[in-house]
Amino acid sequence: MAIKTATEHLIALEGVTKSYQQPNGQQIVILENINLELRSGEIVALLGPSGSGKSTLMRMIAGLIPPSKGKILYHNRPLIGLNPGVAIVFQSFALYPWLTVLENVELGLKAKGEPSDGRRQKALRMIDIIGLDGFENAYPKELSGGMRQRVGFARALAVEPELLCMDEPFSALDVLTAENLRFELLDLWLERRIPTQAILIVTHGIEEAVILADRIIVLGRNPGRIRADFPVTLPHYRDRKHPSFQALVDQVYKIITNPDLEEIETQSTTVSPQEPTPEPIKYQFLPSVRIGSIAGLVELLEDRPKTDLYRLGQELQLEVDDILPIVEAAKLMNFVDLAEGDISLTRIGQEFIAGGIDQRKDIVKTQLLEHIRLVQQISRLLQAKRNQRIPEELVLDILESHVSPEEAQQQLKTAIDWGRYAEIYSYDEPSGQIFLEDQAQSV
Ligand code: ADP
Ligand code: MG
Repeated sequence: MAIKTATEHLIALEGVTKSYQQPNGQQIVILENINLELRSGEIVALLGPSGSGKSTLMRMIAGLIPPSKGKILYHNRPLIGLNPGVAIVFQSFALYPWLTVLENVELGLKAKGEPSDGRRQKALRMIDIIGLDGFENAYPKELSGGMRQRVGFARALAVEPELLCMDEPFSALDVLTAENLRFELLDLWLERRIPTQAILIVTHGIEEAVILADRIIVLGRNPGRIRADFPVTLPHYRDRKHPSFQALVDQVYKIITNPDLEEIETQSTTVSPQEPTPEPIKYQFLPSVRIGSIAGLVELLEDRPKTDLYRLGQELQLEVDDILPIVEAAKLMNFVDLAEGDISLTRIGQEFIAGGIDQRKDIVKTQLLEHIRLVQQISRLLQAKRNQRIPEELVLDILESHVSPEEAQQQLKTAIDWGRYAEIYSYDEPSGQIFLEDQAQSV
């Protein structure tokens, strides 16, 4: 099958918003006003921190879930139900353990109603292309992670999808296996050995995006919006050490870490006239990191007046998803300043480093009570209660008007960790109660 020209668009999203109803009836907006076109001939990387709605966006494109607002067009026609032009590769491989490699690969073809002869032939050919020759009759449990993901690729590609969607397909693999598979996929694509017109890869790895993509779309969080959409024109195969590669990675870092960008976009958002919705209260998202990690980061900055985040990440051998939450948390506490991808210590950050354990606790306490809304709320609720105790469910109910139940648990856990460290309140795990320390001693 020939690859079509790069101008025709396969899929277009127009003003797509996705929100979920919480158990308490509140709506939470996951993705807001997404406008996006996917064209033949391109590899597009959808990049963003975890929870920014990447998987949700991909699932809408695949037709697995409908948008709450806006339109999805497939070949210029509104998409209804499953997208017939899309196949997905999942991070978790999603293979059936009781089926052989061949049977797993045949599965997608069977679902498409392909007769059994053609099915077997197509499956065997893809197994060959993907490098699974000789493993046709093996079961998934006999295979390594890399080989299992090859089965995932073969199954998706066997149906000859126009758009191959991949949701963090290399994240569950070790570094070397991942790098091998990435380049093998690139070989197949560049040599046009796979009958696919476009690839959409969801990733939280900046370097992975810059290695593979012809175009990078950066999603921001809370709610997910497109923060940037730009082409990558470096020729394949790209060298991670090349200055222009590093410059691009640096640029993406700046986009992701630039806190002002979100503000600008928030201000320019227009509310659609036919559906006047009240401006949702923006929830202050707490990154789930421990105080110890924040302290570790802040200490690292002690001898560096101003550091490039990307270099820092490289030095620590950490991926963006590992380092950004820690940076965000340090920023929330006013320990660091961020500007244009550079990070530097604030005066408060310096005081924190200089302090002993008690001073550190005091500084964190002051910062939490001044800047962290969830900690403020919990503390106020506790003060208001005669017995100075509250059940965690009360906090979860409040949180669930902003975030999903899972995320609410995570947010609560972080607020408890931080507040406990600063001795603002305590927590009794068996009863699920948050309480003020003085009260505990007198009970
Ligand atoms: P990413 O893939 O970027 O990590 P996801 O698309 O998986 O992000 O999720 C984005 C947000 O949407 C998360 O906060 C998640 O908890 C929430 N979410 C995803 N699916 C549902 C659902 N079915 N109901 C409620 N919330 C959901
Ligand atoms: Mg995801």
